[in-house]
Amino acid sequence: MAQNRFSRREFIEKSCAILGTVGIAGTLFERNMKPGQSGFLKKSEPKEENFDFEKARKKFKEIEKAGFTAHDAMYWEKAPDGRIKCTLCPTYCILRPYERGRCHVRLSLENRLATLVYGRPCSVAIDPIEKKPVFNLLPGSTAFSLATAGCLLGCRYCQNWQISQALPEETDSYDLPPEIAVKSALSEGCKSIAYTYTEPTIFYEYMLDICKLAKKSNLRNVMVSCGYINSEPLKELLPYLDVLKVDLKGFTEKFYRVVCGGRLEPVLNTLKTAAQSNVLIDIVTLIVPTYNDDLETLKKMFEWIVKNVGTKICIFLTRFHPTFQLQNLPPTSLTTLEAARDSALKAGLKFVYLGNVPGNPAENTFCPKCGKKIIGRLGCQVLSIAIEKGKCKFCGEPIPGIWE
Ligand code: SF4
Repeated sequence: MAQNRFSRREFIEKSCAILGTVGIAGTLFERNMKPGQSGFLKKSEPKEENFDFEKARKKFKEIEKAGFTAHDAMYWEKAPDGRIKCTLCPTYCILRPYERGRCHVRLSLENRLATLVYGRPCSVAIDPIEKKPVFNLLPGSTAFSLATAGCLLGCRYCQNWQISQALPEETDSYDLPPEIAVKSALSEGCKSIAYTYTEPTIFYEYMLDICKLAKKSNLRNVMVSCGYINSEPLKELLPYLDVLKVDLKGFTEKFYRVVCGGRLEPVLNTLKTAAQSNVLIDIVTLIVPTYNDDLETLKKMFEWIVKNVGTKICIFLTRFHPTFQLQNLPPTSLTTLEAARDSALKAGLKFVYLGNVPGNPAENTFCPKCGKKIIGRLGCQVLSIAIEKGKCKFCGEPIPGIWE
C-alpha cells in the first residue's frame, strides 16, 4: 500500500468519525451498488477506468505465494465481451483477468473463475449451537464453526467487519481441507458444522464439499447466511443443509441499499426457495434504531413470513449494539424489541425469540399449544428441555426441529 494512503483501519475509523459526527447516512454505501458491478467500499479494488492488468496479475502471484491458491469456482459464465461473469450471487460481478469480485475472494483468471479461500478459513471455533443462534437443532450441543475472509454485502453494523471486509491475504488463515474440518468436528464431539461469522455463500465450493462429507459422518450442517445467493446454487446446496438461518435484515429496498449495500428481493427469493425444501428455516432480524424499527414495516415483514415461509419457524429479533459504522446510534430499547415480538406473535408466528438480551423470558421456547416452557435458556446455556420424541412433554404437540 502506498505510504500516502490510509491503512484499512484508519480509513474505516475516519469514515466512522465523519459519519458519526455529521450524521451522514448511506453516502459511502450508495456507490457502486448496481448488479453487475464489482467494487464496494473496498479501496484496494482496481477501479474500472484504471485497471492495471499486469499489476493485478502480479498481485495474484503474491496472493498465491501467501498460500491462497486458486481453486476452480462454480457458477460462472462468459459475458458477451469475453469477461467472466460470476452467477453465484445477485451481484453478478463481471470481471477482467485477475480482477476480484465484490466479495474479494472470487477472482477471474484468463479463462475461468477461481476461489481463493477453498480450505483457508480465517476463523475456526467450537461454539454452543445456541450462539448462532439456532434453537431448533440438538439443544446444548456444539457446532464446529468456520468462516473465510470476505463478504458480498457491507452492512454498516457488521459485528465481524474485521474479517468480513478484509482481503483473504490480510487475515491469518488456517489450512483446513474439508476432510480435516469434518475429522476435527468429530474429534471435538461436535454435532454439527456451522458456516457462519461472514457470509458462507462466498466460500460456496468449500462449504458444499464439507457439507457432503459431514452428511456421510452424521454431522448436521447449519448455514448462517444473509440469503444473498442465486436460486440455482442454493438448490444444489439445500439437500445437504439441516438448518438455513437467514438474516432478513429489514423489509425495505431502501434499508438494504443504504445500510447493507444490497437488495431485499433476492433474500425474499431465497426464503421462498428454501420453504419448498425440507431444510429448517430460521430468520433473524437485528432491530436497528431509526433504520428498521418501524412497527408498521415489521408487521408487514411478519405477515410476509407467515404467508411465504410458515408460522412454525424460529424468528429472532435481536438487539442492536453500536458498532462499526453505526456507532452513533443507541442500543435498541427493550420496549421496541418487545413491541416487535408482540407484533410477530399477533401475525401468527409461533416461535419468536429476543436476542442479545440475556435473562429475558423470550430466550425460552414455549409450546405453541399449551404455552408451557419446553426449553429453558440463559444466554447460550440450556437449562431445561421438556421435549420428548419431538413433542411437547406436557401436551404432546409436535415441535418442529431436530431433537435427537
Ligand atoms: S459471489 Fe462474489 S464474485 Fe460472485 S457475484 Fe457475488 S460478489 Fe461477485
